[in-house]
Amino acid sequence: MTSLPWPPVPILMYHAVEDAPRPPQYKHFYVTAAEFAGQMRTLKSSGYTPISFGTLAAARAGETPLPPKPVLLTFDDGYANLLTNVHPLLRSLGFPYTVFLVSELVGKTNAWVAAEGYDPTPLLGWPDILAMQADGGVEFEGHTQTHPKLAELSEADMRREVTDSKTALEQKLGKALSTLCYPYGGVTDRVAEIAAEAGYTQAVTTEFGRARHSDNPLLLPRISVYHTPYLSLTYGIGPLNFRWRLQTRKDTRP
Ligand SMILES: [Zn+2]
Repeated sequence: MTSLPWPPVPILMYHAVEDAPRPPQYKHFYVTAAEFAGQMRTLKSSGYTPISFGTLAAARAGETPLPPKPVLLTFDDGYANLLTNVHPLLRSLGFPYTVFLVSELVGKTNAWVAAEGYDPTPLLGWPDILAMQADGGVEFEGHTQTHPKLAELSEADMRREVTDSKTALEQKLGKALSTLCYPYGGVTDRVAEIAAEAGYTQAVTTEFGRARHSDNPLLLPRISVYHTPYLSLTYGIGPLNFRWRLQTRKDTRP
C-alpha cells in the first residue's frame, strides 16, 4: 500500500486544565475547564475526528487512511486536574488523547517552573494514571525524567533523560512507548537521534504549525492552546481564536 499525502494535521498542545482562571502570568500554562469543554464541543460540531499517535503512524506507513478532519489532543507534563477536567469529558465524547509524563516527577509537581518564579502545580500520581489507562481512551507517553533542556545536557545525561525515563515509564505502564515530547520543545539533531535510538518513532516539539505528511516524525510541530479570556486585546475572541488555531497556516519552522 502506498501512503497518500495528508492534509496538514493539527496536533493541539495543552498543559493544565484548571477549575478557575489563574493570575495573568500563568496564561500559557492552562485553559479553564469551561474553555476546554467549549473547544471540544467546537471540534465535535465542526466534524473533527481526534486520533491517536498510533493512527498517525499507521497513516504515515500507508496502512490506514486518516479520517476526515483529523486532530490530535496532547497534554504536556500530566497535571493532576486532567483526572477531573479532561478524562471524563473526552471519554464521553469518545476522543482519544495523549499525556506526556515526566517519569521522576509523577505524583509530585512541575517544580521546574519555580526557577522562573511560578508556583508549582500538582502532577498526576501513579494510582490515577493507571486507573485512567485502564479506563481507556488515553495514552501516556514520555516527557523525560526531570524536564530538562535536553540540548544543554551532556551526551550521557541526554541518554539518561530520554532512554531511562522511557524504560521506567514502560515498566510502570506495562506497555511500550512510541512518542516523546521534548521539554520546552528543545531539540537538536543529536537529541532527535537519541530519541530514535531509544526506540521512539515519533516526537513532538513546540514549533507552531500543523503536522505535514512530509515532516520528520521525530520533529512534529504542534498548535499551542492556552487561556484566552473571552475578549482579549492580544488574542481576540476566545472561541474564534481556537477556530483560527485549528486551521492556521502559520508555521514557525525554518
Ligand atoms: Zn513540559
